Amino acid sequence: MAKEEMIWDLSQLVKDASPASVQKELESMVTEAEKLRSKYRGKIGKLSAQGILKLLELKDKLTLKFEGAVRYCILKYAANSTDDTAKQLNDAARRAMMKVGQTLAFADIELGKLLAKKPSIVKNRALSEYKHYLERTLRRVPHMLSETEEQLIIVKDKNGINAWEMLQSDWLSTRTFTMEVKGEKKTLPYGQIIGFYQNPDRNLRKTAHQTVYETLSKDDIVWASAIRSVCEDHTQMCELRKWSSPMTQSLIDNDVDEQAVDSLMKTIQKNAELYQRYLLIKAKLMQLPKLANYDLVAPLPKTPEKTYAWADARKEVTSAFSEFDEQIGKWIDEMYQKRHLDGEVRKGKTAGAFCASWLGGKSAYILQSYNGRIMDVYTQAHELGHAIHAYLSSRTQKPSNCEVGSCIAETGSIFGELLLTEKLLKKAKTKEEKQAILAIILDKFGVAAFQVSARVFFEKALYDSIRKGQFLDGETVAKLWLAARDRIYGDAVEWLETMKWHWTTTPHYYMANYRFYNYPYVFAQLFVYAVYRLYKEQGKRFVPKLKALLAAGSSKSPRELSLELGLDIADPKFWEKGMKQAEEFIDKLEKTI
Ligand SMILES: [Zn+2]
Repeated sequence: MAKEEMIWDLSQLVKDASPASVQKELESMVTEAEKLRSKYRGKIGKLSAQGILKLLELKDKLTLKFEGAVRYCILKYAANSTDDTAKQLNDAARRAMMKVGQTLAFADIELGKLLAKKPSIVKNRALSEYKHYLERTLRRVPHMLSETEEQLIIVKDKNGINAWEMLQSDWLSTRTFTMEVKGEKKTLPYGQIIGFYQNPDRNLRKTAHQTVYETLSKDDIVWASAIRSVCEDHTQMCELRKWSSPMTQSLIDNDVDEQAVDSLMKTIQKNAELYQRYLLIKAKLMQLPKLANYDLVAPLPKTPEKTYAWADARKEVTSAFSEFDEQIGKWIDEMYQKRHLDGEVRKGKTAGAFCASWLGGKSAYILQSYNGRIMDVYTQAHELGHAIHAYLSSRTQKPSNCEVGSCIAETGSIFGELLLTEKLLKKAKTKEEKQAILAIILDKFGVAAFQVSARVFFEKALYDSIRKGQFLDGETVAKLWLAARDRIYGDAVEWLETMKWHWTTTPHYYMANYRFYNYPYVFAQLFVYAVYRLYKEQGKRFVPKLKALLAAGSSKSPRELSLELGLDIADPKFWEKGMKQAEEFIDKLEKTI
């Protein structure tokens, strides 16, 4: 039975947790947004710097005032989606937020127009705290269209790319797959058959992969039509919105420039052999001549069956952070003490884990399903790292500067995983324990930095093909995928023939308005490894630098943040530092054999 300490206390988020009172809060939020709109609509173009400051502060105030109520509804539902009250509150909160978004959408558009006319306002001292926020708004301006055009795009997307996205997702989730499990024929939906991918039984892993992609290959016309339409639509939008490359939109969203991403991807390509070296070591540990694709993230056969009670996990994670910095350790402890973590395994709870920041409370809430496995301890360290990011940024920044983009958002979390790794490695008594820890961290690194990079190469190749006038049918897309995949894996892995259809199941390729979602994962992973390397080199001197980076929230670009550390993300040397850290882990693992 779960103890109370494993269940979060959401009542701190609101003054009065009765559903009627929370609903009322949500209604007031919409009313106040409407008031703001009638005060400013059509008038932003004439504002002075002081006037802009006032407007941005009012928007931030509105966010802070109602954040608790909105969080309360959403988190209550995430904790138990079968609860009727939670369902209603979640629905009400989402509707209210959408309403507020629509009501206030004019502000960014009008502000953008004003900045385009008078770009010097961005540098006005009165607006110094919002400088980067305004720079980002300004960067979007040249790509905005007229109101009518924007509306037309929404209308054509509904039955265009949105429909293709839905078709891919619906088609995949309604397929069934027949495979033999222990002598018994089973027909399973996609969500269930992929459960076999991590099965300790190698044969089952193989059959599951074989069955899935063989079945899906029969519908190549559906997958190819969807991916082709999504990509061709994007190509046209690039022309219309004057995005200079298919990546521009994503670069703007992620607050980075092409040079930094180029340096990153070149470093990945240059070090593909390092990853291949790891895969060969892993093959040895699994007593295989070579890994097959279905072994890539399989657990090691001799993984010790150690479980961690909640209290043990709390102790390990807290001390890992405390050894880095005492104050951070205290905040971690506060998270447990105030019951901001929900670890209980229960029906109706959202799968996976997340950390939701609570700016008004200068804290955060964490959800996970804690089963006591070492992976769960890692998840806890990861999510608590996110919480520390929220603790530091909410104490230093305005709410508008706490919207950290995906390239930087994983800094606290992956750093937390690395601190935990160091701690567990020191305590590990047997070589099997050490191997299990290193394999966890290197598998994570391999997937995020290298496996995802293959997808970046693939997505680039799709657009190059379209530019050359090639028609993307299923076989052509499959060829592009194989070429991209092999740039990372070389011949270090044995692939099933049917894996050439792997691109059919990756939902991101089909998501409307979500092109090049992938390199931020690569960026985030290698960024933190580089930052961690700096910590190893500089020791305690580095601690205030990391805290300053986290405290900056989104008030600075990733490039500025790296420059403050004395390095530059546009320079491959920065990324090589991250690779060095990965290499050290690989060396350590090799020594255990
Ligand atoms: Zn994360």
